[in-house]
Amino acid sequence: MKIIMLGAPGAGKGTQAKMLADKYHIPHISTGDIFRANIKNGTELGNKAKVFMDKGMLVPDELTCDLVVDRIKQEDCKDGYILDGFPRTIPQAECLDQALETLGDKIDYAVDVEVPDENIVRRMSGRRACASCGATYHIVYNAPEKEGVCDRCGAELILRDDDKPETVQKRLTVYHEQTQPLIDYYKNKGVLAQVDGTKDMQEVFQSIVNVLEK
Ligand code: AMP
Repeated sequence: MKIIMLGAPGAGKGTQAKMLADKYHIPHISTGDIFRANIKNGTELGNKAKVFMDKGMLVPDELTCDLVVDRIKQEDCKDGYILDGFPRTIPQAECLDQALETLGDKIDYAVDVEVPDENIVRRMSGRRACASCGATYHIVYNAPEKEGVCDRCGAELILRDDDKPETVQKRLTVYHEQTQPLIDYYKNKGVLAQVDGTKDMQEVFQSIVNVLEK
């Protein structure tokens, strides 16, 4: 099963993507996570991406497309994968389609997790990420056992630069301008599924599973 997760930053698509990847035993491919890992390791790609990410802007398509196309060609992706945070622009979607066509493949579902902007801003200011292993939490919806400390590795939890309120606002503007057009793009292809992302995490998950197993 090849799935794309769509939705505004902070709509909860990353959390849902991880849960789906666990349920269906397929890789969760998050471009945001890949960029953050590169930043942490000080790679050339990481240094380039950071400049855009810290401003709430998108990393240029040419730095993003090849990365994903190479990743989905790997052996562990042969039975499917979940793309989280990619594509984010029409050119990225076209690049993915071209690559899939060459492989004789196609996307099965594009799942749009719908959440209004006002909920997003509230949610994102509560997000915390582990500075060491990258695990994510929310101070209200998914709190760590001990405040400010990662359950998984014990390192300190931080508010990511790109989750700061002014950056969130910028990311929402970018989302509406550049990513939202993908909803029509996938609707026209007949693979779009829209779910209400304001519900509780488990309810959202169940509604996605219902669509995928219909
Ligand atoms: P995310 O963790 O998916 O919210 O991504 C964090 C940041 O990484 C975004 O605000 C962008 O700056 C960058 N990013 C992630 N995925 C993409 C993409 N497909 N295209 C361009 N930039 C991206």
